[in-house]
Amino acid sequence: MTDDSVSVASAAADEVIIRVEGMHKWFGQFHVLKDLNLEVSRGERIVICGPSGSGKSTFIRCLNHLEAHQQGRIAVDGIELNADVKNIETVRREVGMVFQHFNLFPHLTVLENCVLAPIWVRKTPRKQAEADAMKYLERVKIPEQADKYPGQLSGGQQQRVAIARSLCMNPKIMLFDEPTSALDPEMIKEVLDTMIELAESGMTMLCVTHEMGFAKTVADRVIFMDGGEIVEQAPPTEFFGNPREPRTRQFLEQIL
Ligand code: ADP
Ligand code: MG
Repeated sequence: MTDDSVSVASAAADEVIIRVEGMHKWFGQFHVLKDLNLEVSRGERIVICGPSGSGKSTFIRCLNHLEAHQQGRIAVDGIELNADVKNIETVRREVGMVFQHFNLFPHLTVLENCVLAPIWVRKTPRKQAEADAMKYLERVKIPEQADKYPGQLSGGQQQRVAIARSLCMNPKIMLFDEPTSALDPEMIKEVLDTMIELAESGMTMLCVTHEMGFAKTVADRVIFMDGGEIVEQAPPTEFFGNPREPRTRQFLEQIL
């Protein structure tokens, strides 16, 4: 490797893929997100935590415009999220999202859930879409469930299908909103293991979760939100070992 290729590689690693500047959001009169600023580098793994109602879901939903912000800027991979529908569509194609409640289509098989968006949105030929889907179902370790319906699967399996389905769109960024909160304890690990593997593959990830073991293993940065603000952010060793803000300390005392 020449010096040039080294510098190009590190430039790519430092590349900002999400940029949020002075972002505010209101629900009617209610000021839900207050002056949020965030830069996420390509390949970075971020965990967002904070009390219920602090605005975590609303924040990550703004990143693919499931919610609209009213002030400030959000740019994803250089594309500005504004009223331009084309931009919104482009960003949504690049950003996968996994929710607490899986949101699979119950009347479609696992495989059909996975090929739907690639075929209809990306115009991928069905054969190719199915081959891709099987590849991702293997990656989340449930290829044998391809022909079943979501209702026939355990919660942990359904959530892994939801992850595979997102990956079928070949996203550049994955957003997770409390993906293990609705799961029985014995199923949490299989979903976290899938997420850890995804993190190790270099995916840019923003995860709202209270799984602090996951945060310690995987996160490059932990962000604490409270009252619609980013109160503190730091690498996990610092965040858990030496939290600076009283509100962070109080939160950690409650959950650890
Ligand atoms: P978190 O994910 O941290 O629990 P949310 O982002 O879901 O928090 O919610 C933040 C605040 O915004 C809460 O007070 C919630 O009640 C309120 N909220 C969320 N969605 C809406 C909505 N669609 N309309 C009005 N208020 C909302
Ligand atoms: Mg939430």
